[in-house]
Amino acid sequence: MHQEARLDHPRPFPSAPARPGDLVVARPEGLYCPPGDFYIDPWRPVQRAVITHAHSDHARFGHAHYLCSEPGRGVLLARLPGIHLDTLPYGERITHHGVTLSLHPAGHVLGSSQVRLEYGGQVWVASGDYKLEADGTCDPFEPVPCDTFITESTFGLPIYRWPSQPTLMAEIFHWWQANAKAGRASIVYAYSFGKAQRILHGLLHHAGVAGLPGPVIVHGALSTLNAAYADAGVALPPMALASELPPRSPLLRRALVVAPPSAQRSPWLRRFGDASDAFASGWMQLRGTRRRRGVDRGFALSDHADWPGLLQAISATGAGRIIVTHGNVPVMVRYLNERGWQAQAFETEYGDDDEAVRVAAQAEAVSAAGNEAAP
Ligand SMILES: [Zn+2]
Ligand SMILES: [Zn+2]
Repeated sequence: MHQEARLDHPRPFPSAPARPGDLVVARPEGLYCPPGDFYIDPWRPVQRAVITHAHSDHARFGHAHYLCSEPGRGVLLARLPGIHLDTLPYGERITHHGVTLSLHPAGHVLGSSQVRLEYGGQVWVASGDYKLEADGTCDPFEPVPCDTFITESTFGLPIYRWPSQPTLMAEIFHWWQANAKAGRASIVYAYSFGKAQRILHGLLHHAGVAGLPGPVIVHGALSTLNAAYADAGVALPPMALASELPPRSPLLRRALVVAPPSAQRSPWLRRFGDASDAFASGWMQLRGTRRRRGVDRGFALSDHADWPGLLQAISATGAGRIIVTHGNVPVMVRYLNERGWQAQAFETEYGDDDEAVRVAAQAEAVSAAGNEAAP
């Protein structure tokens, strides 16, 4: 407990001082482009904000003007209704105060972008959050050559290596199928933006509508985002709200129930009776996390790059200078510096969608990493 409390508020890894000509610097409001006079995913209110994606730690209320990718419009407006928003198709270049800006797919969630900036003969790319493996719910990650790459490092420890998307979906499907045969509902907790839709789309892709073992029931908290995904053309299975089925319907016992983590132990779950439950998160790769979470199963499903993915993405940019924003920052900075990159950190206020789970997992991850030789 003591250790978890400490890891909940890690000592911030200080930002390195800016160099003359830097295209992005750390300011109290967020990451700032001095020649362009705009911010990327700022955490305090600013005039101009370029938003990499609609997760709540990257996209906040209070800015005067927002810019995001065209495919990100629906989900960003679902989360921040009423904002003054402009959008840009992926790959299309605009010039603002002499800075050429374009957005490129990050493969993280619907509409997620890397921000490419070009000015004075330099190219910088700010990744936001990203994932390398395509999952069918958003445009796949695209490596963008640059001189300086600003990267996340949420799962920046060598122990994080994800199973492939088909393997994960087969695992979730077989768990659901076995529960349905035994007359038990399957409740999977997944963050309501990104992971939930990935499970829904992935299972449909795995089995087809006719192959699903029972009905799919979604928690009301998912409705708006599911609609935004469907509007964007992402295939989702037929879904019902729990209230749309009669209370003692036998179908409830064959159902897959997708709910946000906040629904765990809520009275809403009682209608499903003796169900099997699972949690979907990258942190589930550590067995202790599942145990602490008190669920029957853990699926290591993440919308972030794993350790090999982070290193592959960093190498693919060809950048010599790397700036790490959030996650396991000191580990990644040290690793890269030892291997010939110029690596440093930006102190940011980005967190993780599964913050509570992360806190519990970090203690275990850090001690496990201590026992493992770097690859
Ligand atoms: Zn994110
Ligand atoms: Zn993030």
